Amino acid sequence: MKIIDLRSDTVTKPCDAMRNAMAAAEVGDDVYGEDPAVNRLEGIAARITGAEAALFAPSGTQSNLLALLAHCERGDEYIVGQQAHTYRYEGGGAAVLGSIQPQPLDFEADGSLSLEKVEGLIKPDDFHFAKTRVLCLENTQGGKVLDLDYLGEARKFTLKKGLALHLDGARVFNAAVALGKEAREITENFDSVSICLSKGLGAPVGSLLCGSGALIGRARRWRKVLGGGMRQAGILAAAGIHALENNVARLSEDHENALALRDGLSGIEGIRVESGSAETNMVFISMQEETAGALEQYLHERGILISSGKTVRLVTHLGVTREDMDRVVQCVKGFLDKDEK
Ligand SMILES: *Cc1c(COP(=O)(O)O)cnc(C)c1O
Repeated sequence: MKIIDLRSDTVTKPCDAMRNAMAAAEVGDDVYGEDPAVNRLEGIAARITGAEAALFAPSGTQSNLLALLAHCERGDEYIVGQQAHTYRYEGGGAAVLGSIQPQPLDFEADGSLSLEKVEGLIKPDDFHFAKTRVLCLENTQGGKVLDLDYLGEARKFTLKKGLALHLDGARVFNAAVALGKEAREITENFDSVSICLSKGLGAPVGSLLCGSGALIGRARRWRKVLGGGMRQAGILAAAGIHALENNVARLSEDHENALALRDGLSGIEGIRVESGSAETNMVFISMQEETAGALEQYLHERGILISSGKTVRLVTHLGVTREDMDRVVQCVKGFLDKDEK
């Protein structure tokens, strides 16, 4: 039986062509700057994000941390979403390792941060306060795509306020594909952007931080400090190159599958499909607490993996098909029918 894993798009596995590209990669010592595949990947990432330079890192968590360390000094502050990965899901790295204080605030329903609210959180220039240095946005945010006009506003705002603007763009290609735009139309608004290769793009490992030459120079130093300087990393970079060259446009299939899943689940009694679902590759459903555990177990027995909780994020990716969506909908229906009897 095929396992349908909807817990995350991080569960994707490299295809044969990607593995072949990895096996054939020309490599060198990347800490010496001598790995041809890493250099090529960094060049590609810089080009598609419209940045001067890029740096290959082992994870998105590290890319985001490198950005904060490169933008800030000890005692500085970054403004960030309360539910943002960079704040909530990265072990407090900026505070732990950079002495950088977070100033979180709630995301708006559309995944943006209200610039008016952000303005109220910027600290005055006074030694009582941390120095506010960076505004961090996330795109996609919980599967939602930030509006291009909003990004333009955020760019103007941060320039006026003297803040750096960082994007956690772990899924920025999902956002670009959903808008029918090039990624750089999104990323050019930012001073730094982290992208993930190991989510829907299907690479086993890897992330890139993109930004100015000076910023990437500082980040390169911090990457060594954090133990992220890898040697013959071209084997991993080759997977990333394959991912960027082959797996970006196809994200639209994941979005279509999410739509099919959303529509299929919408009609089912006992389940609520949350608004903002299927803008990209995520569908959110909520249900009663007792139902949630039982549904997870029921689906698990039928080869369908979902996360725990009464609100569940279902994520589509290159490892699941349209037929799989129909199967999931059928199984959820089967479960709730059984439940009623
Ligand atoms: C996955 C993810 C990251 C980075 O996660 P890693 O597992 O460290 O690669 C960063 N931001 C967001 C929004 C993510 O979803």
